[in-house]
Amino acid sequence: MDVLYGVAAATGERLEPGYPVSTAADVAHACIAAEAAFDPYRARAADERAALLDAVAEEILALGEALIDRAAAETGLPVARLTGERGRTVGQLRLFAQVVRDGHWRGLRIDPAQPDRQPLPRPDLRQRRVPLGPVAVFGASNFPLAFSTAGGDTAAALAAGCPVVVKGHPAHPGTDALVADAIRRAVERCGMPAGVFGHVRGAGNELGAALVRHPAIAAVGFTGSRAGGLALMRLAQQRPVPIPVYAEMSSINPVVLMPCALAHRGAELGRAFVASLTMGAGQFCTNPGLLLAIEGDGLAAFEAAAAEALRTHAPQPMLTDGIRRAYAEGTARLAGREGVVELAAGIAGDGVASEEARLFVTDAATLRDAPELAEEVFGASSLLVRCRDLDEVIAILAAAEGQLTATIQLDAGDEAQAARLVPVLERKAGRLLVNGWPTGVEVAHAMVHGGPFPATSDGRSTSVGTLAIDRFLRPVCYQDLPAALLPPELRDGATEPRMVDGRPA
Ligand code: NAP
Repeated sequence: MDVLYGVAAATGERLEPGYPVSTAADVAHACIAAEAAFDPYRARAADERAALLDAVAEEILALGEALIDRAAAETGLPVARLTGERGRTVGQLRLFAQVVRDGHWRGLRIDPAQPDRQPLPRPDLRQRRVPLGPVAVFGASNFPLAFSTAGGDTAAALAAGCPVVVKGHPAHPGTDALVADAIRRAVERCGMPAGVFGHVRGAGNELGAALVRHPAIAAVGFTGSRAGGLALMRLAQQRPVPIPVYAEMSSINPVVLMPCALAHRGAELGRAFVASLTMGAGQFCTNPGLLLAIEGDGLAAFEAAAAEALRTHAPQPMLTDGIRRAYAEGTARLAGREGVVELAAGIAGDGVASEEARLFVTDAATLRDAPELAEEVFGASSLLVRCRDLDEVIAILAAAEGQLTATIQLDAGDEAQAARLVPVLERKAGRLLVNGWPTGVEVAHAMVHGGPFPATSDGRSTSVGTLAIDRFLRPVCYQDLPAALLPPELRDGATEPRMVDGRPA
């Protein structure tokens, strides 16, 4: 039997124990069990589904520090960060439990019959949203808890009434195994069919490909590389029955530094930028990888403060050797480009587990002629572009790829100019921020963690926040069904929130 071992991110040492690698037969078994669980699971009362989500949260907390220690060893992320991430994971499960109980997710709409309408009577039309079916979830390497086995995709799919089959990320098999066991315990405790949660593990593309190809799978949730997301999108489209893939892939999260903000607090902004850039060794999808600064008073202070903060920044281990090598290659490419200069670098990494943070600088004309300079380099690398005026900034943004976030640093004196940016940024990004930094994504009702391609494969949705449930639902209309055949929540007198004739009732 093939076995998968975790690797200590900080040392490269193998971590015991080994975990059995799943086979194609295991994938088929999990998918068939998920399909068998689908109808019984979606038929359960909302309270029971919510109780499952709460139970998963409890079981994760019950794992105690063993979970944090294992995640820290496998990812190299600090204990404090992982403790916070566990809180976020548990909070997100509980938030989805509330959403399920609250009932708005059902999207109930009723257009009562108008038998006397001329020239034709109107039929009785009633709509609700139903779950898609079993969802394949690919855990992310950079959030071993919040975007992984029991992360946002799993929580949203379970909330929607979809069983899930998770492919745990091969970079943290021990963390994944602990959380998968916790979910299984919750499923059993709540008396849910076992197939509601399936789990496979292994490295190499074949396993994930078999999962996406399996006819029982109705949708895919993924966070990772652009190449990986695109491969899964292709697979999903080539199936006899194509299915949606919600892939969150690549973003450089532009930050515009407006002139008054730079003049009044250039140095402060420089230090705050470095804190955001270097958090978690820069391994965030919302890392600020592109700065667009309008030249003027304060830019020099920004650059000096950023360079000073960066030079004393100690390197941290990166998540995997592959991610570290991709970072080293990406930054070497930037460093070797004509017209690009390294403004500063952090304390040198060991080139085995860690690499130094790096800040490069160029001008708008260089970037215009070489747009590939703005491709994502996953890690603590950023490119500062000196722009002569707002028109240059707008031209760069208009040519940019889709983004998860776009940020404006402004003072009151910048607002009139910044108003020109908002419509440009709306077309590019899923979340617009003012005077914040893009790292740090609140799990909330109004959050959007999505954006046009290649930030995601489908910019109409989000993978963080309660709106994420929409990805796994589809509307069904019931025309002239007698009450006995209607779903209970669509019958007259039901108490769930609904729209009647287009108005909340
Ligand atoms: P990844 O290589 O895309 O892998 C993510 C998951 O997808 C893994 O389970 C992987 O397993 C699977 N996978 C990848 N390619 C596949 C394919 N062609 N067919 C089937 N399954 C496939 O991402 P990663 O390992 O987390 O990191 C690599 C790079 O991803 C980073 O350097 C970074 O650029 C990017 N990344 C981006 C984000 C973000 O939030 N935007 C987050 C993390 C990483 P197998 O490889 O075993 O098949």
